[in-house]
Amino acid sequence: MKDEYDVVVVGAGPAGAYAAATAASECDVLLIEKRQEIGNPVRCAEGVSKEGLARFLPPQKRWIANNIASARIFSPDGTVLEVSEELAGPEVGYVLERKIFDRDLAKRAAQAGADVAVRTRATGVIRENGFICGVKVRHLGESLEMRAKVVIAADGVESQLARWAGINTTLKPIDLESCAQYLMTNVDLLDDCCDFYLGSEAPGGYAWAFPKGHQIGNIGLGALASKLQSKHPIDYLNAFAERHFPDGQPVELNIGGVPVSNAARKTVADGLMLVGDAARHTDPITGGGIINALEGGRLAGEVAKQAVRVQDPSLKVLKQYEAAWRASFGKKLERNYKIKDIFVNLSDAELNKLIRSLEGLRLEDMSVAGIIKRLISRNPRLLAGVRHLF
Ligand SMILES: Cc1cc2nc3c(=O)[nH]c(=O)nc-3n(C[C@H](O)[C@H](O)[C@H](O)COP(=O)(O)OP(=O)(O)OC[C@H]3O[C@@H](n4cnc5c(N)ncnc54)[C@H](O)[C@@H]3O)c2cc1C
Repeated sequence: MKDEYDVVVVGAGPAGAYAAATAASECDVLLIEKRQEIGNPVRCAEGVSKEGLARFLPPQKRWIANNIASARIFSPDGTVLEVSEELAGPEVGYVLERKIFDRDLAKRAAQAGADVAVRTRATGVIRENGFICGVKVRHLGESLEMRAKVVIAADGVESQLARWAGINTTLKPIDLESCAQYLMTNVDLLDDCCDFYLGSEAPGGYAWAFPKGHQIGNIGLGALASKLQSKHPIDYLNAFAERHFPDGQPVELNIGGVPVSNAARKTVADGLMLVGDAARHTDPITGGGIINALEGGRLAGEVAKQAVRVQDPSLKVLKQYEAAWRASFGKKLERNYKIKDIFVNLSDAELNKLIRSLEGLRLEDMSVAGIIKRLISRNPRLLAGVRHLF
């Protein structure tokens, strides 16, 4: 590591690694990660759409655990809505091996010329004349200062960079899914099908079972922090696993949060850009964030190069990044936040009614938006609050 770079990226998840790889084609880049192993622990159910991923990377066998051809959505009373591949549109995809995927992304950044440092935690920002011009780090017990023309905060849901830079990204309990997940063996799952369970087993969220190979899969759930009723998400997970997978045995447990808020109102400052979960770019309905993290990373990397090229890392230049992500996926996040607000408050009886209303229907568009549109047309009163969004 040197003590001065064009661009320092904090956090080697998908957003940070993709931003670093993009910027490194022209700039001197450092990518730092506080963990000793990139990609581990896995705080993710690892589901991703094929079409989404293909926009960024050619799929590699080594980081695909399973090809997913269909999905099933279970209502609280067990009614099933089946979504097959030819109808599912862009929502079908892969279950990834993020331990390998995230490392490959970091490897791409290194191969593009970035320096990568693990066990290196950002502990503060360096600020001069109102500009963020570097980060303070702890690296293997040593305190160091890394100066940079541009800092990219890709430090995930718990992002501290934003706060240190004076940007408020605090999540209210109604905007945070508290998640717990087992990688579980001895589970009978359809090989190529992802299952979603709605209702009070995961209040304000949903539970999932994603297959990762023979008799093994990600069994998890996210519950809205405001609806946990002083229980821990693991309590809900244990109850869910006992009911649906009584023979299951955990081989790994992961706990994590997913922002289901609006995107951060401000994602740039002089010398700084926020990307991925740090910018609250996860989808408020599904909690999926990998694809938007890659897209945000790409856009931030491009704008960082531009700022270095014109030697101007001020807000004036960096705000191109904010305009770009808003044009790309900002509208969808806004719409889905409003939809989420209605769905998290539906009772089990109402969810049963919704899923039953689509039973046996052959839908042409089974994307999340497509399903919601059909639900609205079949249940106009129950979903009156979201009708105007389509
Ligand atoms: C249980 C669960 C299930 C999920 N399932 C899915 C799913 O199926 N599909 C999907 O698309 N999304 C899913 N998500 C969301 C997805 O994991 C995130 O949206 C995605 O990882 C965001 O990428 P990121 O790069 O922004 O953040 P992260 O992947 O969280 O990476 C941030 C990195 O920053 C590092 N870091 C943090 N602070 C510092 C610091 N001070 N210094 C240095 N490094 C730091 C962290 O260690 C971490 O490696 C899930 C999330 C959870 C919690």
